[in-house]
Amino acid sequence: MTEYDYVIVGGGLAGASAIQGIRELDAEGTILLIGEEVHLPYDRPPLSKKLWFGQTRVEEIFLHELDFYRRNRVELVLGIRAAGLDPREKTVADANGKLYRFGKLLLATGGTPRRLPIPGGDLDGICYYRNLDDYLHTRSQAAPGKSAVVVGGGFIGSELAAALSIAKLDVTMIFPDDYLCSRVFPDYLGQALLRHYQDRGVHIVARDKPVSFSRDGAKFVIRTEGGRTLESDIAIVGAGIAPDIELARGAGLEVGNGIAVDEYLTTSNPDVYAAGDNAFFPYPALGRSTRIEHWDNALNQGLWAGRNMAGARRPFTYQPYFFSDLFEFGYEATGEVDARLETFADWQKENHTGVIYYLAGGRVRGVMMCNVWDKVDAARALIRQGDVVTPDSLRGAIG
Ligand code: NAP
Repeated sequence: MTEYDYVIVGGGLAGASAIQGIRELDAEGTILLIGEEVHLPYDRPPLSKKLWFGQTRVEEIFLHELDFYRRNRVELVLGIRAAGLDPREKTVADANGKLYRFGKLLLATGGTPRRLPIPGGDLDGICYYRNLDDYLHTRSQAAPGKSAVVVGGGFIGSELAAALSIAKLDVTMIFPDDYLCSRVFPDYLGQALLRHYQDRGVHIVARDKPVSFSRDGAKFVIRTEGGRTLESDIAIVGAGIAPDIELARGAGLEVGNGIAVDEYLTTSNPDVYAAGDNAFFPYPALGRSTRIEHWDNALNQGLWAGRNMAGARRPFTYQPYFFSDLFEFGYEATGEVDARLETFADWQKENHTGVIYYLAGGRVRGVMMCNVWDKVDAARALIRQGDVVTPDSLRGAIG
């Protein structure tokens, strides 16, 4: 059995950031990173944005070159899943049964796309879009003029539908809600974006969902609850993810909607940490615990977890933001961006340029900056202050 001071399970952004966090405080400790994908850790946002817009190339999305891991003396075990965790023995087993002993362990295992539990939901070729191989596979098929059905109107669905449409495919979106990104957009914005997608030639099937997938030759045939039949060359699904908590659960760590961690990102075992999409963590600015499935959270939680594994013992107080690009519409957002809250929109120009404030009890809980950039710190401050506000006091507050 090989022994390491630090073992990181998960080769995504949180895992890679943890290396940096560890090395800020401990130049010598031995580090092992176990990743299920064969690729070096890479940035995920370009998979549904910049790679499609011609703004970046695949070679550029990797977080570090191989040499970074060599220089930092990080051993990489890629292309294999960690299959077991024994916190008493302080060992992790990989899928081949090989054991690795750790001093401190980080579970940065992310999440797995939810499969559609319908006949044909597992048909070969349906892409539950999540990782670099999904991008490479879809890209290889995405010739102009081909047809694509995109299931789901959340982050993946809305970004991929725009990306494929920009790549000149004939795109149909199907989702159960009235409009796009209904969990985050207030209805006036969601409806406006829907019209924008339609103007750009995307066919929208709202308030409906697939009940079966089948094949007719090379085509996918998708039957829907509403009685429709859709046909396409490409089928993409973005129906959410489930956090990967099985290692933690199997080891008897506290889990629920994610792996429960305290303010230091420590799980119920003091030598085991969690960070990124799978971590259910205390969020001081909102006064409650939550789980966040976005890039900036993974980046910073990984960094903080790494530092704390190396002895920093600093609470994670960072307030993450997220962003999206949907045709000409882009936004950055932070806090509780929940469409069920009351909202106040401070539109500053046409074409949905302005700021949406999400309010509870008269206080700002979340802020979405629509086509307004570099104002995230001002938004964070407003949420942290927690003052009771009025629409008048918010007008022009950011932007
Ligand atoms: P998501 O944003 O949670 O959206 C899931 C969508 O699938 C929702 O529209 C949901 O509708 C719909 N859905 C659920 N069950 C369905 C069914 N049986 N049939 C049809 N539609 C169904 O998840 P995602 O788009 O799959 O994204 C996956 C993860 O990647 C998320 O964690 C997301 O945060 C992350 N991501 C983030 C970004 C970003 O930050 N810009 C970009 C891409 C991906 P309901 O809402 O009605 O359930």
